[in-house]
Amino acid sequence: MFSHPDLPTIFATIIVSCLALAATLAWGSRGARDGLAIWALGLVMQASVFALLDARGVIADAILAAGGNLLLAVAMALFLAAIHQFQQTPQNRAGVFLPPLLLGFGLLFTVGELHARITLANLVYLVQIALIGLRLLRFRYDFPTRGRNLILAGMVLYVVGATSRIWTAAFRPEALHEFLHPTAPQSVAFFSVFAAIVLTSNGFVMMTKERSDARLRDFARRDSLTGCWNRVRIEEVAERERARLRRYGHPVAAILVDLDHFKEVNDRFGHAVGDAVLKDFAKIARISIRDTDILGRWGGEEFIAILPMSGLADAAAIAERLRTRVRAHAFAGGVRITASIGVAACLTSDTWAEWLQRADTALYRAKAEGRDAVRIEGVELGSGPTADAVRPTRLIWRNGYASGSPEIDAQHRALFANANALIALADSAANKDEIIAEVRAFLAREVAHFADEERLIATADYGNAHDHAQLHRDLLARAEDLLARYANDEIAASGVLDFVVHELFADHILTEDTRFRAVFEA
Ligand code: GH3
Ligand code: MG
Ligand code: MG
Repeated sequence: MFSHPDLPTIFATIIVSCLALAATLAWGSRGARDGLAIWALGLVMQASVFALLDARGVIADAILAAGGNLLLAVAMALFLAAIHQFQQTPQNRAGVFLPPLLLGFGLLFTVGELHARITLANLVYLVQIALIGLRLLRFRYDFPTRGRNLILAGMVLYVVGATSRIWTAAFRPEALHEFLHPTAPQSVAFFSVFAAIVLTSNGFVMMTKERSDARLRDFARRDSLTGCWNRVRIEEVAERERARLRRYGHPVAAILVDLDHFKEVNDRFGHAVGDAVLKDFAKIARISIRDTDILGRWGGEEFIAILPMSGLADAAAIAERLRTRVRAHAFAGGVRITASIGVAACLTSDTWAEWLQRADTALYRAKAEGRDAVRIEGVELGSGPTADAVRPTRLIWRNGYASGSPEIDAQHRALFANANALIALADSAANKDEIIAEVRAFLAREVAHFADEERLIATADYGNAHDHAQLHRDLLARAEDLLARYANDEIAASGVLDFVVHELFADHILTEDTRFRAVFEA
């Protein structure tokens, strides 16, 4: 049979644990304003509650009881203050100071009234626990929350303790006198407090560790000069997006930027100005890309952006926007610079090195063809009607686009010429009826080609032949829809032409059709 340990033993255990934890926390904090030191002080208060209980018989019961209640409220207030300091949120002074003050005031009126005192004190604790819980739950965490959850679990134990005391005062008042007797409920109650102290304190330590780990992780992935991501992070993102492309067919493009004649900036204005220009450039690049795009400093004055869910048309528009912003901007110290940009979509078969190499090839072309320019791997560009719009003028077949089936590839190559004719149409003075007729003719060729392709991949036992056919149907249906809307004057010609040329035709071949290779080349 389990014999209940005598209460002085339990109290001594709790006191020693609180003090040992407090010493650990204070030592671990070493002056950092992370809340650990305040939490340690709260633990000392909690230890003194039990020291008071141990002093029964030495100190008058009334003083002992009131003092114990007050010290526990002060401990809770310190725990809340510690969480505020950790979160660096403005201190909720009322939430921290009012509960112990009100309790102290209330205790003056409840001297000798056991039920009233216990009910009041435990109600105040419940309010304090609620404030702590709310603060923990409403904070925006940019790090894991396992430590937070541990604190919440400990707080639940405190809630159970406080409510059971209120319940006892209301319904079994005679049991209140057993508070300091070694009965089963008392053992459970005190051990719960013990567990709550250990859980919440360790939770708090875990929370500080989780945050500092997350900060270090972030720090290790950033470039210290510009605040951009560094290679480590860019390569992580590139790998993740390549996996998405392979699994779901989500297109992804990369933009590689190299500032033009940057050495001259350093030579003429000094290295410090060069650094400031790099920082400035990073800001411009950040506002030129979208929230979901990832910007990194690839090295020196070379930057890279990974654009998830983007085909070449999107990426080209963003690259062009960046190029025009850079040339229009007065940089730190009045420096004017331009940028050369290479864009490449990732092919399903690409490794990261191959993808990057293709962006680099495009960048090299931009440099070789006079700098201050955007070049796209596999696409020729002309300038469109507005500064922000670069228009592809010609799609160029690349061996990387091969699907592994000579028949399919022959059809794709032939369709490239048809697609280029459609691009030329966008810049010509063709009228609406001519454009609609040309798009219809192109779609009719695509329908025939899709049918051949579906037959070939089914014969070759391509596992996703069924899904792929569905993809074809979806693309054709969207093209028909856009065509109808163009016919009704709801959208411009470019709306339907861009979709047919880039999404239905080029992006589909680059991403979806290159997946066949695994089957045809097997
Ligand atoms: P281009 O790219 O147009 O061919 O000419 P460039 O002068 O930019 O060519 P290059 O790539 O050879 O030179 C890059 C220069 O960028 C060399 C280096 O002095 C400078 N640079 C690289 N990293 C930093 C940096 O962190 N701070 C500063 N101030 N300059 C840097
Ligand atoms: Mg360079
Ligand atoms: Mg350069």
